[in-house]
Amino acid sequence: MIVMKFGGSSLADAACMREVADLVRKALSRSPLVVCSASGKSTNALFSMAKKSEAGQNVEALEELRALIDKHHSIALDLFPAGMPDYLEMAISQLSSELEMMLRGVSLLKELSPRSMDTIASVGERLSTRILAAYMGMEWFDARTVMRTDATYGCGKPQISEMKALVLEKLAPKITDGKAVVTQGYIGATEDGCTTTLGRGGSDYSASLFGSALGAEDIQIWTDVEGVLTCDPRIVPDAQPIAELSFNEAAELAAFGAKVLHPATIQPAVEAGIPVTVRHTRIPNGRFSTITDEVKTGRPVTALATRGPVTVLTVSSTRMLNQSGFLSKLFDAFTRYDISVDLIATAEVSVSMTVEPQASIDAVVKDLSEFATVSVATDRAIVAIVGERLKYTPGMAGPLLSALSGINIEMISMGANEINMSLVVKQEEAPRALQQLHGALMTGGYL
Ligand code: ADP
Ligand code: ASP
Ligand code: MG
Repeated sequence: MIVMKFGGSSLADAACMREVADLVRKALSRSPLVVCSASGKSTNALFSMAKKSEAGQNVEALEELRALIDKHHSIALDLFPAGMPDYLEMAISQLSSELEMMLRGVSLLKELSPRSMDTIASVGERLSTRILAAYMGMEWFDARTVMRTDATYGCGKPQISEMKALVLEKLAPKITDGKAVVTQGYIGATEDGCTTTLGRGGSDYSASLFGSALGAEDIQIWTDVEGVLTCDPRIVPDAQPIAELSFNEAAELAAFGAKVLHPATIQPAVEAGIPVTVRHTRIPNGRFSTITDEVKTGRPVTALATRGPVTVLTVSSTRMLNQSGFLSKLFDAFTRYDISVDLIATAEVSVSMTVEPQASIDAVVKDLSEFATVSVATDRAIVAIVGERLKYTPGMAGPLLSALSGINIEMISMGANEINMSLVVKQEEAPRALQQLHGALMTGGYL
């Protein structure tokens, strides 16, 4: 069997849904599990209406609800010109009433807990899959019956062994020759049956978890680009598709901002040794990327990515000199406030670190100031240069640094796995840094 995951842009309207149905029909002999995101930007709309309800703007929230339901209605009517089946009409109207009740509850209480937000957000995937399954005449499966997570609402952590057992018990028997099963990405449930989500963009992760639990031959991520590209195409329009990349490269790129894959997607696939392919729904016979565990020969740099804003903390103390235990004291402070550190660069008397911008930084800075001098630089961005062959290519620093002329590099860090060299620049300079790097590395034959 295979897993076919379709992102929001692949399900944005009736024409897209027809294309998806076509692709799935062509793959029926491989018994696909079809994992869907919410249609278009529905998840953003659900977040927006929930926040409006919390702010007491109930009228506006209900207007947005109406627009969302109307959009789904018109997709369904377009797919069923002679009228949609009663069961689909009923499913859509039930989801609409459920959503309305939740929004009214949020606005009455003026309280939007992460738990309520997850149930509200789940409506997007539940709507899109209802319509696609009905249109294809295929079985609809509620992912929440098997995607067991912990109760970290907003970012549920899959409970892998329970999830696998549930998938094998409840979902695997439905995967049969010549049929497709349609289910939701992104959503799961706790042991108590409360709806959770895996975090924004989490449908890729769902696809990979389902694929590994079911021992899929291939996990296909269908999206709106021809695979993983050498850079974010919104920043570098002439970025090129990468035919083959390693799991490590894909994981680094995802973690450092390449939105095409959710950062956690790769892990379950790696463990199960299942290749992941990334393909364009509208250009199914075009180019695509295959991600496998083999280290490929090729150019030194595979792709560039950027993530920001990040905050850089530089901690200096002359007491660092010849003193053991300094770093442990330093990291204790981060542990106390549950702040995770991304990049680190050390010098004789200072350590620089990047962290996500967050409220608890002030508290950490206060604690660190008791034994060191701390400076904080906000609105920075990480520029990541990723490639398995970076470590085998001497003299890469020259071309990289000369490509960045005119841009102030504030920090440089080579990942311990030696496949990611990361730079920190002011966030406003990150697009230019990527464009200059991409251009120069392409011209020089390094990318
Ligand atoms: P989906 O809705 O299918 O999940 P996403 O919007 O989450 O799609 O991811 C695809 C988008 O990721 C692309 O349209 C592109 O703008 C962006 N992107 C960022 N970096 C890259 C990259 N290196 N390669 C391909 N796409 C990228
Ligand atoms: N619909 C969810 C989101 O927009 C999950 C996904 O698309 O992967 O974040
Ligand atoms: Mg996505």
